[in-house]
Amino acid sequence: HFFTPEIGDRVRDRTWIEEGLRVSLGVGGDDLVDGFTLVYQPQYRPGADGTGGALMGAEALLRWNHPEDLSPVSPARFIPVAEETGLIVPLGDWVFRTACRTARKVRDRGVSGFKMAVNLSAVQLRDKGCGDRLRRILEEEGCTPADIALEITESALMGDAEGNLQAVHDLRASGFRFAIDDFGTGYSSLAYLRKFAAAYVKIDKSFVDGLPDDDASRQIVAAVIAMSHHLGLETIAEGIETQAQLDCLRELGCDFIQGYLLGRPMPEAQLMALMAPEIVSAEIATKQVVVSG
Ligand code: C2E
Ligand code: MG
Ligand code: MG
Ligand code: MG
Repeated sequence: HFFTPEIGDRVRDRTWIEEGLRVSLGVGGDDLVDGFTLVYQPQYRPGADGTGGALMGAEALLRWNHPEDLSPVSPARFIPVAEETGLIVPLGDWVFRTACRTARKVRDRGVSGFKMAVNLSAVQLRDKGCGDRLRRILEEEGCTPADIALEITESALMGDAEGNLQAVHDLRASGFRFAIDDFGTGYSSLAYLRKFAAAYVKIDKSFVDGLPDDDASRQIVAAVIAMSHHLGLETIAEGIETQAQLDCLRELGCDFIQGYLLGRPMPEAQLMALMAPEIVSAEIATKQVVVSG
């Protein structure tokens, strides 16, 4: 049995996160969690004139400050711990409810067609009762499945493809749409893409990073877009940081774009401010964003 100082640090780190998560989640019921917030990153349809074009939705992303010292902990560190401990189930319910609440506020402004993307862990998906809870929360918050897109990573889906398939189909039967997140990193087959009947494929940032100059990245992105369209799916590219990447993705026919170039993850109030008062009762598609840099 080996126990190096390095492993000791890792165990302490994991324990520190787990205990912090329990404290933050233990404060109250469904509705009263402490230390968590959601930020929202806008998603756009590329404009013909090189701009970000029309706002189509936003991705809800979880933020957490550890209760001990209030330091922010990145989702890359705490989500895996929440998954291993099952805490992702109550936490995911809170995320879903909070994101629905924001989606409802958007709709109450008269904006139509806005989609709120919510990340769903495979642990949540496989939890018995997940479908029933999501349906109940949706209804309680006054939303419909059309207001939501559920993002699940390709690798999570493939982890137990047959088991996940049933849960996906149950939610699809209720009208939920799925996006396959981080696509291109999880070795899925075309057959599975078809089986999951997702509505969107999210092209992983690692491929966007290589655009426009790296040939391999460009060819992969072009192939994923062509294949997705052939199967009737729309494509979203994540992690766009430069105008050259945006131009390249528009040229390749990518349907939607998301990244720091167009907007960082932002608090709800800032998201609402993106929806100018003059469009409250008009089509959201008239909203233009100015892309700088
Ligand atoms: P993801 O779902 O692939 O989310 C995209 C991540 O890329 C986010 O990181 C976002 O802030 C970041 N990002 C967006 N645009 C850019 C860009 O232009 N450049 C760079 N460098 N990064 C960009 P974040 O918020 O740290 O989240 C990391 C991952 O944690 C997410 O990846 C998702 O898998 C997971 N996650 C976040 N919130 C939730 C949640 O509520 N539930 C679950 N189950 N997972 C979540
Ligand atoms: Mg995502
Ligand atoms: Mg992603
Ligand atoms: Mg990613």
